[in-house]
Amino acid sequence: MQTPATVTYSCCLRCGRPLTSKKSRARGYGAACYALVRLRIRLTTGTTPAQRAKALELVTDGAILPLRMTSAGLVCQVVSEDGEWIHLTTPTHCSCPHGRRSTSVARCYHTVVAGALAASLRLAV
Ligand SMILES: [Zn+2]
Ligand SMILES: [Zn+2]
Repeated sequence: MQTPATVTYSCCLRCGRPLTSKKSRARGYGAACYALVRLRIRLTTGTTPAQRAKALELVTDGAILPLRMTSAGLVCQVVSEDGEWIHLTTPTHCSCPHGRRSTSVARCYHTVVAGALAASLRLAV
């Protein structure tokens, strides 16, 4: 998958240890933390197996990457499926076309994944 803007990380988002491998720098976690984050996404995100599979796919593909913590929560960068645009997502808001339209009843799916990522990063090390 092609990503228009590449984020790289120097330290693990979860435990803060320096990242050395190119792979870890691209995804933001060391191998052990990445496994935990993936596990948590797989077990807790969404309400159906299909939603969980989709969430895991987004994280695995690097289609959703954590950028920074703010008072509004974790801000993530989301890349569209065709790789043409990037938008910003927090656990409560998403700037994608669907997110701007959606009501509180039908939350944009990206916000669900951002919330799960934020929760996984807050886990005790
Ligand atoms: Zn780590
Ligand atoms: Zn969205």
